[in-house]
Amino acid sequence: MPELPEVEVVCRGLRPHLVGRAVTGILTSGKKLREEIPAERLRREMVDRRIVSVTRRAKFLQVGLETGAMVLIHLGMTGNLGFFPPVVPPARHDHVRWLLDNGLELRYHDTRRFGAIRVLGPEEVPRLEETVYRTTGPEPFGEDFTADYLHRLAKGREVAVKAFIMTNQVVAGVGNIYANESLFRAGIRPDRKVKSLSRNEWARLIPAIREILRHAIECGGSTISDFLDAGREKGYFQINFKVYGRDGQACTACGAAIGKKTIGGRASYCCPNCQT
Ligand code: ZN
Repeated sequence: MPELPEVEVVCRGLRPHLVGRAVTGILTSGKKLREEIPAERLRREMVDRRIVSVTRRAKFLQVGLETGAMVLIHLGMTGNLGFFPPVVPPARHDHVRWLLDNGLELRYHDTRRFGAIRVLGPEEVPRLEETVYRTTGPEPFGEDFTADYLHRLAKGREVAVKAFIMTNQVVAGVGNIYANESLFRAGIRPDRKVKSLSRNEWARLIPAIREILRHAIECGGSTISDFLDAGREKGYFQINFKVYGRDGQACTACGAAIGKKTIGGRASYCCPNCQT
């Protein structure tokens, strides 16, 4: 499933090819994704309009148009985007094709169809934080993601720190792998109750989360062309795991055996020495 770093890589890959382009037509498969594809509305807001921005919020790609309208794309479990010349026949699971004024097509491919495409009119875009992102916490790289914020939010709560940072309302887009690796980097046990963490520990965890995500984005950045040519499934971040999937193996810092337990239904890995 694409996590925040993968979505950020797709976002950066799309941006130079989409910003400044105009959409000349839109074709859809007629199949339903997680939600119905709003084909008519897509055409109304996008055709003959110029794309002015490609950004990301949580795991949504946000395509901004010159009118102030915006199209949100969520990749779901298996969604992918790629540019193709029209002579390449569309694949079976290509559900949306945007025809561009440079002769290329942007195609949304999704075998399991858990993705989503939404259209927001210019009047709806300024209210995105209160609507689409109402239950979404701050961005991990955002200014509002601070030790004080986490410390305050955690006050009196019994939940395990790993489950806490994986909660979308707390912070957007920290998936299981990144939560495991960040907690190792910060030296914090994943099963600690959040009410027991000091402000200093939160202050240590935030840069750990950012460094892990930044590293994943950079690793992904070097494989952008694979990404945009469809058929990825690379798992390029795996070589750098310090704890994730390494139960029974030696900790790279101290040599102790990495332990494994289930927290909040998710596999959690921890060095008994390095994480307190
Ligand atoms: Zn260790």
